[in-house]
Amino acid sequence: MGGSGGNSQSDGGSGTNRGGRDGSIRVGGRANAAPSHVPPRAQVLGVEVDCVSPDEAVARCVEMVRSGRGGQVVTVNPEMVLACANDSQLAQAIAAADLVVPDGIGIVLGLRLLGYRVPGRVPGIELAEALMREATLARQSVFFVGAKPGIAEEAGRQMSLKVSGLRVAGVRHGYFGADEEPQVLEAIGHAGPAYVFVGLGAGKQEKWIARARSASHGAYAPGAVWVGIGGSFDVMSGTLKRAPAAWQRLGLEWAYRLIQEPSRLRRMTALPVFAARVAMQAVTGRGNAHRRS
Ligand code: UDP
Repeated sequence: MGGSGGNSQSDGGSGTNRGGRDGSIRVGGRANAAPSHVPPRAQVLGVEVDCVSPDEAVARCVEMVRSGRGGQVVTVNPEMVLACANDSQLAQAIAAADLVVPDGIGIVLGLRLLGYRVPGRVPGIELAEALMREATLARQSVFFVGAKPGIAEEAGRQMSLKVSGLRVAGVRHGYFGADEEPQVLEAIGHAGPAYVFVGLGAGKQEKWIARARSASHGAYAPGAVWVGIGGSFDVMSGTLKRAPAAWQRLGLEWAYRLIQEPSRLRRMTALPVFAARVAMQAVTGRGNAHRRS
C-alpha cells in the first residue's frame, strides 16, 4: 500500500499493544479467541477505521472465517483516505468493509491527533502472515492474487518455507483484463480458500474485492476473508526489501520504501495534505463522534 509506505511496512508507531515480543502478530493464542469487546471505530476525514490491535485484527478475521460469513479487510493508509473524496466506489468499498485496519503510520498519528486510542499499526504484510499461520493451524488454504507474473508464485514458495505446512491453493498475477476476471474468480471459488490475499495496489484492490465478493451474489468463496495487501507479494517474494527494524520502529518505513521505489515520490505528496486536513478536522471537531472522553 501506499502513502506512508503501505502494506509492506511494519509498525512505525508507538509499538504499543503489539502481539509478540519481537513486535510480530501473535498467532494461535489470544488471536484465536474472538475479542471480548468490539474496539471502537474512529473516523478520519469521513473514513471509518477500526481501532484494533494486531491481535484483535487477526481474531476478527479468524472469527469471520469460522462463522462462514467471510468478509473484506482493508488496510488503509492516508493516500486511500484522501482518494475517497474523489472516488465514491472506493469510499463505498471501504465503508462496507468488515474490518478497516490502520496500516500506515500516518493513519495512526492522524487518529491519535484526533484523540482516538489507537494501539498501533496493523501492517498488511504482518496481518497476512499471521492469517497464513492461522489458516495452516486450522488446515485451511489461502489464495494469492496480484503482482507481476511470477511474483505471487515466488511469494507462495517463500511463505511456504516460512510457514511450515502452508497450503497455497492457487495463485494469479494481478495483470488480468476484465474479460479474464470470471476465470480468476472461478479459480478462487474452485480452490475454496479461507483467505484471499489481493495485491493489486491500494484502491484498485479494495474496489476489486468488493466487486468480486458481490459477483454472482458471492458465489466465489463466499466464506473467505479477502484482504487487500498492496505490494506485499513483492516483499514476500524477496523482490523488494522491507525496512530494517530500526526504521520501522521510528515510523520511517515509508522513507525506506521511497528509496527503493523513487517513482513513489509523487504519491508521497498525499502525506502533508492528509496531515493538514486531519489538523483541520482536529480543530473543527468534525468527524470526532467516537473520540475518547
Ligand atoms: N499491481 C497489480 N496489478 C495492477 C497494478 C498493480 O497486481 O494492475 C501490483 C503491483 O505489481 C504491486 C502491487 O500491486 O505488486 C502494489 O502496487 P503499488 O506499490 O502501486 O501499491 P501499494 O503498495 O501502494 O498499494
